[in-house]
Parts: sequence; structure tokens; C-alpha cells
Amino acid sequence: MPPFDTDILIVGAGAAGLTLALDLARRGVDFRLIERNASPFPGSRGKGLQPRSLEVFEDLGVLADLQAVGGPYPTVVTYEGGQAARTQVHEVAPPTPAEPYGNPLMVPQFQTEAVLRRHLAAAGHAPAFATELTGFEQDADGVTARLHTPEGEVTVRARYLVGTDGGRSFVRHALDIGFPGETLPFRAVIGDMPIAGLGFDAWHRWYTPDAQLALCPLAGTDLFQMVAQVADEVTPTWDLVRDLVRTRTGRDDLVVGRPTWLSTLRVNLRLADRYRVGRVFIAGDAAHVHPPTGGQGLNTSVQDAYNLGWKLAAVLRGAPDTLLDSYEAERRPIAAHVLGLSGRLLGQMGQAEGMRRGRETRELDLTYRGGPLAPDGRPNAGESGRVRAGDRAPDAPCLAANGTHTRLFDVYQGPHFTLLGYGVDAATLATAARPGVKTLTVAPQGSGQAADLVDEGGHIRDGYDLAAGTLLLVRPDGYIAALSQDAGAIRDTLDQWLGLTTSA
Ligand SMILES: Cc1cc2nc3c(=O)[nH]c(=O)nc-3n(C[C@H](O)[C@H](O)[C@H](O)COP(=O)(O)OP(=O)(O)OC[C@H]3O[C@@H](n4cnc5c(N)ncnc54)[C@H](O)[C@@H]3O)c2cc1C
Repeated sequence: MPPFDTDILIVGAGAAGLTLALDLARRGVDFRLIERNASPFPGSRGKGLQPRSLEVFEDLGVLADLQAVGGPYPTVVTYEGGQAARTQVHEVAPPTPAEPYGNPLMVPQFQTEAVLRRHLAAAGHAPAFATELTGFEQDADGVTARLHTPEGEVTVRARYLVGTDGGRSFVRHALDIGFPGETLPFRAVIGDMPIAGLGFDAWHRWYTPDAQLALCPLAGTDLFQMVAQVADEVTPTWDLVRDLVRTRTGRDDLVVGRPTWLSTLRVNLRLADRYRVGRVFIAGDAAHVHPPTGGQGLNTSVQDAYNLGWKLAAVLRGAPDTLLDSYEAERRPIAAHVLGLSGRLLGQMGQAEGMRRGRETRELDLTYRGGPLAPDGRPNAGESGRVRAGDRAPDAPCLAANGTHTRLFDVYQGPHFTLLGYGVDAATLATAARPGVKTLTVAPQGSGQAADLVDEGGHIRDGYDLAAGTLLLVRPDGYIAALSQDAGAIRDTLDQWLGLTTSA
């Protein structure tokens, strides 16, 4: 076999591919990111970043830039039968010590991807545009891929291939992975365009049961995202958009500017039978597609990539291959849940409260409990079992040893595992620690113990349901790996996942 050109070939530079690339870049993993399109996709598509994705993007170091280009969701104004009713899309959820981002952030997808590309460039990487995967074969050691590039046909040999190549995924088809589900009757013309005369302070929605029109102002731009339900297949044109806006709003004063993106939407609910075949994985829309209602698609795709990135890096450094099996085992049930949720929300669109979104869309309660990395029977329960291995690791404000304010998310930020000893002395903690694991002692509130962190206010205790003497191991992707009073059990968990021996 020819030598390897790269460790990981990422196919598709959408939200999932870019997130995976950024995560691998900060881990120092060698990869190539290819994109069939000659230039970045211009559409706003996934415009809602859910609170859990904001936490992911904070860890990846891109959140401040996303906040700089994004903004809050406006209220919805529904026009029906000559009446206008104003409703809040999202129940307002103020930040809490455990959940710093209560509400979604609106960022058009082209902006999100631009921010990710900028950070990737700062790390010395860029997608190879106009480069299409046209075929591949795998063997026991790697994958040989054929690419169509501006310079001609090229062969690339990689240890792993990840298909983040969207809903029509070439990689999924080539692997012959089933994609069962249904195509729903809902059809729409979608696009982005300036509209003079329409207030930018509301998400406008004209409603009749089979002729909805929604115009959402896109934070950080002068564009509206249009979703106009249509009965039949149509060719989307600027003229059609002008006509749809005029007839459905009943207003002649609105001036529709040239669309910057125009397309049609067919809604599918489909989930791939498998996420992995040997050395090839699929992630994002390649693995699951569902209606845009509830704003879950991009978020689920980003979080697929975030789940896979640290596992690929660990296995390349010697962790057991079974760690990679946990990607499908953890992420496929999440996608199945999201399919159900977004399908149900689509069904509610005709109701008065149809645009209302609650906690279920924020993705903070998604858990890997009971999965291969958090099986029952493992040392995994806190005092009451309320917080368990597999759950999202909450944030908590606390004090650093020098008395300055910090928070657990600052401690977790980076590509490492984090091991906290809550009321555990440094010597005991050291017996569980492993190379590359960030290890800190925590003094419970009022204990007066000398430690790396002080749980002032008891937010760590409350968030994790902790008693003094507990060790808490947090995964690189911000989920609880183990909670135990037994340092040996924590050490064994680390050794098992990272393929270390107890003498490492
Ligand atoms: C109107 C609308 C509104 C939406 N709203 C939301 C929302 O509010 N929130 C949300 O979370 N999601 C939303 N979504 C869904 C979201 O846009 C998708 O889930 C998201 O784009 C998936 O990202 P991805 O990276 O998996 O795939 P994509 O973004 O589709 O990226 C795949 C990439 O792979 C490339 N590619 C394909 N084949 C090849 C090949 N052979 N070789 C090389 N490259 C290839 C493609 O060119 C493409 O750039 C919305 C979608 C629509 C249409």
C-alpha cells in the first residue's frame, strides 16, 4: 500500500466538516478537508445556534466571534384573518450557574461557517474547494480515496475517512448504508433577500393552512430568510418571490430586493442505519435529515463532529478501536430523538402556538447515559443519582487558588479530559491521574482546605450533586465520564478508554 497522505480525510466543509476540522486542528491531528463546491455556500439555512452548541463553540474558542455577528431571536408576529398577534418564539431562559447560555443565538449559517473557516485559517488550515470525492476503497489499515480536483484526478490515502457531505451523502451511498424514513408532503421556496418596507424587529408570519409565508430578519445582516410553503414543484426565481410576498402579505408597498440565495425545500425524516463501516464514518446531515422546525439540524451535526473528534484523536494515539464504535452508539439515538422532535414541531406549525419553542430544543438535556461509555453498573452515580455518567457536565462559577473568579467551563476548555477531586487530597487524586489529563483539587465551600479551586457558593456541589471525597472525570467533549469515591475506578475508566496500562 502507498504511504499515508493524511490521517483523516474529511469530505464536505459544511458545519459538521468545519467543526470536526477545527477540533482536530487543536488536537494536532493531521487531516485534509475537501469541499465539492468552488466557494462557500451562501445561504442562511441553519440560523439558530442552540445553547448546547454555544457551549461547544465556547470550548472550540469561536463563541465570541459568533456572538459578535449574531443576535437574539425576534418575537413572531402572526397575521391571520386580518389580525396580528405577537408571540415570543423561545421561552426566555436567563443564564444560571449551571447553564450559561439559556437562549439560542441567531447566526445565519453562512456566517457560522465563515467564523469556523476564519479560526481554521488561524490554525493553518483551509478547506480545499472544488475538490470532490468520487470514489474510495478501504482495507484493514486505511482508505484510498479518489478526488476530482481543479488539477485533475488525485488519489489520497488516509487512515480514516469521515463523510460530512450532507443529506445526499456520496459516502453514505458508496457504503450502501440504508437511509430509511419518509419524504413529507411539505414543500417550500426558501431564500435570503432584503425587503424594504418590512419591520426588521419581528419574524413575520402570514398564515393560512396551506399557504404559509415566514420572513425572518437575519441578525447581523439586512436580509430576511423566507420560507414560503408551496403546493407543487416550482422553479425558484426572484419574480416568483416577489409574487409570493405580494399575494400572501396583501401588501404592494414591500420592495423585494435581489435574493442572495434561493432554493426549494423538500422535507425528509430519515436516519442512517449505521454511522460507521470500518474506517469510514458519516456525520451531520449525511447521517440524519429532518425538518428545520425547532432548529436542530446544524446543531446536531456540529455535536456529531464534536463527539467524533476526540475519539478519532485518541484512537490515532493508541486508544482502542472500540472507542470509535461509541460514536454511533451515542449519537444515533440522539438523532432518532431529534427526528421525532422536529417532526412533531412541524405538525404543530398550524396551531396558534406553533412557533413556540421550549427547553426540549435547547439540547442541554441530551445524555449518553446507559451508552457504551456510561453503562449501568459503572461507578457513575452522584449522591442521589440525579447526575450520572453520560450527562452533560454543567458549568459552575468558582474561585481559583489565587482568589480570582473562574468557572468550570474555563477549566474544561481545551482538548483534554479533566479530573476534579472534590474534597479529595492531592495525593489521592494523583493515583487516579494519567498523562494528558488536567487534574485539579476542589475545596468544598467553607472547608478551608488548600486546593486548586474553591467551590464558593456551592455551585459545583449543587450542579454535580457532590459529596466531599468524590472524584469527577469529565470527557473532552464536556460530558461526565465517571463520578466515584474510588480513585482506582476512575483510573481504570481512563486506562480503558485511552488504551493506557496502569503503569503509564
Ligand atoms: C430553511 C432551512 C432552515 C434551517 N434551519 C435550521 C436551524 O435553525 N437550526 C439548525 O440547527 N439547522 C437548520 N437547518 C439544517 C441545517 O442547515 C443542516 O442540518 C446543516 O447544514 C447540516 O450540516 P452538514 O455539515 O452536515 O451538511 P451540509 O451543510 O449540507 O454540508 C455538506 C457539504 O458537503 C459537500 N459535499 C457533498 N458531496 C461532496 C463530495 N462528494 N465531495 C466533497 N464535498 C461534498 C457539500 O457541497 C456541502 O458543502 C435548516 C435547513 C434549512 C434548509
